[in-house]
Amino acid sequence: MSAELRSNFLRTQIQADLEAARVDALVTRFPPEPNGFLHIGHAKSITVNFGLAEQFGGQCHLRFDDTNPEKESQEFIDSIQEDVRWLGYQWAGEVRFASSYFEQLYQWALYLVDEGLAYVCDLSAEEAREYRGTLTQPGRNSPFRDRSVIENRDLFERMRRGEFADGERALRAKIDMTSSNMNLRDPILYRIRHAAHHQTGSEWPIYPTYDFAHGQEDAIEGITHSICTLEFEDHRPLYDWFIGNLPVPHQPRQIEFARLNTSYTITSKRKLKELVDENVVAGWDDPRMPTIAGLRRRGYPAAAIRHFCEEVGTSRSDGTVDVAMLESAVRDHLNQHAPRAMCVMQPLRLTLTNLAEPMLLTVPNHPADPEFGSRELVMGSELYIDQADFREEANKQFKRLVLGKRVRLRGGLVIEAESCEKDADDNVVRVLARCVTSVPGTDPDDGVKPKGVIQWVSAEHGLSATIRRYDRLFAVPEPGREDDMLAAVNPHSLEVIEAAMVEPGLSEAEPEQVFQFEREGYFVADRYDHASERPVFNMTIGLRDNWSATHA
Ligand code: ATP
Ligand code: MG
Repeated sequence: MSAELRSNFLRTQIQADLEAARVDALVTRFPPEPNGFLHIGHAKSITVNFGLAEQFGGQCHLRFDDTNPEKESQEFIDSIQEDVRWLGYQWAGEVRFASSYFEQLYQWALYLVDEGLAYVCDLSAEEAREYRGTLTQPGRNSPFRDRSVIENRDLFERMRRGEFADGERALRAKIDMTSSNMNLRDPILYRIRHAAHHQTGSEWPIYPTYDFAHGQEDAIEGITHSICTLEFEDHRPLYDWFIGNLPVPHQPRQIEFARLNTSYTITSKRKLKELVDENVVAGWDDPRMPTIAGLRRRGYPAAAIRHFCEEVGTSRSDGTVDVAMLESAVRDHLNQHAPRAMCVMQPLRLTLTNLAEPMLLTVPNHPADPEFGSRELVMGSELYIDQADFREEANKQFKRLVLGKRVRLRGGLVIEAESCEKDADDNVVRVLARCVTSVPGTDPDDGVKPKGVIQWVSAEHGLSATIRRYDRLFAVPEPGREDDMLAAVNPHSLEVIEAAMVEPGLSEAEPEQVFQFEREGYFVADRYDHASERPVFNMTIGLRDNWSATHA
């Protein structure tokens, strides 16, 4: 195991189980329900389950927990597999489906019926709730609890044949209606639901509950450690009850850890679906979404997400991690791995009045890493700089171009602004400047050094590009706690710039390639919309964390 991995209680436990030969080899599983796209919280679960399997030379299964057919779809099944692979993991064997165990689960339910440990209950949902009691009051036995095994078998088989309507009956375990653990008060094993299923079609009019399905699926697959989040802690006695009372081929064990929550982020699939359905975002993979597909389209590298998931640690106490930590993991990764390029967001024409011949400049692609090599840029007399980088007058704090003052063009010459032209509305539309050096990277002979460096793009060779600038989707730290989530959406989370100028080499950018646009931030060529003749870049993250400074 690599030394930089933090120790955590899961690793310690698994290590101990292996050393004591309680298990031969680690087998974990990642069990998403295909009812939405995966989000950053799932990334944590994926790195935990696949990561542990990797570290201990074990296996991790991908199993779709598809027991609620109405909310599930093939689109989600496909996206989940793509996301897991993109994060850098490969499941052992074929993709698995809870639904492929439906017959076995049904046989085990019959076994419990025959053992007198399950019964068919005719209480309506509302009545059942009443009988269930509360946290402070014990429940009462259902009037159907003492049905004979023969009657229960007959009714359950007829449920399976589709003879009853949705909700008319349910199969329940016979455990203890007075248990202080509500999950043990005769939980439901099967519901009647005449719904078509994406995998099994119309074969099943009854569906197992999560509780009845999950542990048995783990047993079928030989899962050694069934790692899930803390909300299932109270279900563990039930998990163990099924494993203990059924003739399962293997004894899996459930271990819980705390969910990952990040600030400014929604990690509920139901609420993410609402953002999609209400067109607040352009889809599940909108770059502002905390979905893995969204983060990917935003330019977040898989390695940075994995690193973040490792850094936040794995514990048994709930908490919220500052999303700035994720952003900083992304920034650190990209600072090392993204080549530099130049982009002018709001182009302003700059004419170099004394440049006789275009110059061929060799500019390094990374300031610290020579492995990135260099590129050639032509600096002619007609350029674009950013409107924000020029002022007619300014105080000393403004270290860019000012009339009568000097600035260095990145990778090129030092220039001094001489004059500017304006339109009828008094907007500066062109700046005229002269070069005060003739060799790139040198200082002027007269000793008057430039105060700053600005980016530029050749007017002749530059490419017009669309830039989508993103900001956090929510303006409040805990959007999940808002009564009206939609009211907490940051109205400035997307700004589209249609006519930015980028340097010509970016026509070669591959979709999903990330660059640092000097002085602007990190930008990724959009996975779908970018084309060499029409570049489209999404902002991944700014160069610095200025959220708190600008949103105080
Ligand atoms: P939601 O509450 O949004 O519906 P879920 O937990 O029901 O999410 P599943 O598809 O059942 O979604 O999740 C698959 C696995 O991912 C489960 O084992 C679950 O515990 C884990 N998981 C989900 N959310 C998080 C999270 N925020 N942090 C860590 N693990 C998570
Ligand atoms: Mg779930």
